[in-house]
Amino acid sequence: MSASRLAWYSHEICFWHDPGPGSGYVPVGPGVEPLRQFAVDPDLRRAEGLVKASGVLDRFTCLTPAPASDEDLLLVHVPEHVERVEAASAAGAGDAGVYAYVNYHSAQAARLAVGACVEAATGVVEGRFDRAYCLVRPPGHHAEPDRAMALCLYNNLAVAARAAQRRGARRVMILDWDVHHGNGIQRTFYEDPDVLYVSVHQEGLFPAASGLVLETGAGAGAGSTLNVPLPAGSGEGAYLAVMDRIVEPAARTFRPDLILVAAGLDASGHDPMGRMLCTSRTFHSMTSMMCRLAGELTGGRIVFAHEGGYSAWYQPTLVLGTATAIAGLPAPQDPFLHSLEHLPGQRLQRHQERVITHLEEHHPLLAGATSGTAPRAVPVPAAASSNGGP
Ligand SMILES: [Zn+2]
Repeated sequence: MSASRLAWYSHEICFWHDPGPGSGYVPVGPGVEPLRQFAVDPDLRRAEGLVKASGVLDRFTCLTPAPASDEDLLLVHVPEHVERVEAASAAGAGDAGVYAYVNYHSAQAARLAVGACVEAATGVVEGRFDRAYCLVRPPGHHAEPDRAMALCLYNNLAVAARAAQRRGARRVMILDWDVHHGNGIQRTFYEDPDVLYVSVHQEGLFPAASGLVLETGAGAGAGSTLNVPLPAGSGEGAYLAVMDRIVEPAARTFRPDLILVAAGLDASGHDPMGRMLCTSRTFHSMTSMMCRLAGELTGGRIVFAHEGGYSAWYQPTLVLGTATAIAGLPAPQDPFLHSLEHLPGQRLQRHQERVITHLEEHHPLLAGATSGTAPRAVPVPAAASSNGGP
């Protein structure tokens, strides 16, 4: 593990992206006093600062990405979408889609975020390094081929997956543990048998009624989408059980050439946008598991990209937890751990396990693998689909 060559991508301009005045995730308007929006990116600079101060960044080769080209963006997005993002940003402010506010620097930041993920993915495919982390903003997993959405302008990892396929990675697995469902990644690859999308998210959170267990892909891509909507209040026990019982067996059945991880941090117990209980230890454990899995399945090739994460005080420790695991180091000191680790929901609860058991029994990638039977259609489960979205 210590022999892994590690790359770290970030760019100052990504930290200049700012969705503008607002409060929480809502822009200033009727009834909304100016405070700040969550996704202001000096917070990410603080995160990088902690990784640097801890000495962990010294384990990585720090690289500055080039902006993604139109050719790259058009691997996933339609030209009109790119034009809308560029125009809104050039105007200095506005919504480039649905809750996707921009400032003057956003279009460049978004191209750099995509560029970082493309360079990271193609870099591991071509053997320049083994593992990479992309500390990028704006995030990407909600962005659909034809619209920006929920802070996401371009779909960073979807473009990276397509770019990696052009460089020879035929089968790509994308694991997304952001607390929200990555509707944009799912939509991009829903009928594609060569890209497995696995999302572990809070059920019914956002987008509404997106990421249900019965969404498993369509057409040639049937079975290549796997949604794990965990109930609010899930913590380390549930997440590690999902990794062990869902993510690892699905990956072994799918056998990817490359693994990409949408490594959002908003499933933490201090995040204002989600209602989950993960700690830096949870993210360290999940990251370590994925690096081991990459060692087993992809020759070690794996890329992690930042997505959501809105706790100004906890996010730096969470990024450090992820970075230390990528570097093969033990979990770092976590001054906030005491406030979360003993909460009752940290242990796997029966109502959380029902989703896992249902998927084990019914998802084509898992049921076929464990029972030796052919993949079968997924019925609507009484327990696990009762979320229905907000
Ligand atoms: Zn999120």
